[in-house]
Amino acid sequence: MFKKQLAALLAAAAFAIPLSAHASSDHAHGDADVARAYIKEIQADDNAYIAAHNSAFFKKLAAGQHPRATVITCSDSRVHTNAFDKTPEGDLFMVRNIGNQLATAKGSVQYGVNHLASSLLLVIGHSSCGAIKAAGGDYSTLEDPIKKELDTISITKGGANIDGVKTNVNNQVAAALKEWGTQVKAGHLLVVGAVYDFSDDMKQGAGRLNIININGETDPAKLRNMPAPAAAKPAH
Ligand SMILES: [Zn+2]
Repeated sequence: MFKKQLAALLAAAAFAIPLSAHASSDHAHGDADVARAYIKEIQADDNAYIAAHNSAFFKKLAAGQHPRATVITCSDSRVHTNAFDKTPEGDLFMVRNIGNQLATAKGSVQYGVNHLASSLLLVIGHSSCGAIKAAGGDYSTLEDPIKKELDTISITKGGANIDGVKTNVNNQVAAALKEWGTQVKAGHLLVVGAVYDFSDDMKQGAGRLNIININGETDPAKLRNMPAPAAAKPAH
């Protein structure tokens, strides 16, 4: 009896492997019924948001934006600004893509830094990143536009995900320093690389936003005293 069950389990497992491989390399699909239900939730949440904010709040938003930070982060659904900023409206100019890379989103980042005059350029990678996993393996069968984005991620193939995440953040900071080095030297811009670690791979606590790079400095001992408290500006 047990043997028969085991054989059935093994057969099911053998069948499941090509199916899951198919799903990851080919197209999976969603469900419009899920979408319809979710839109209702989204509308309810928007109503609650409106009720929780007065007209002055929205008037201020309508008057314009002066975001203190331009943020390049991953599109991953587990990464959101409420993890590190309780009031992001008007303060975080968000640029998101798979793998939080500068190259394919440069215009948006330039807009935030050069035209909205953000003081902080924050690159945020995250643990368990699918883009890093893909970039660290063979992604030759993926769609060309996805490949084009993954091609901008330069990490060691087959390494640990968190190591690839950190390397990629440091690479993106280096690319940003090439573009905005003059502004950094002039004291107009701080470029910071961080890892939002919900998997606690860095052992600093699940959910910690670990700062790993400030203006190219990656020495943890030096980062502990950076940025200097005196440089912090009061919230507006
Ligand atoms: Zn990601």
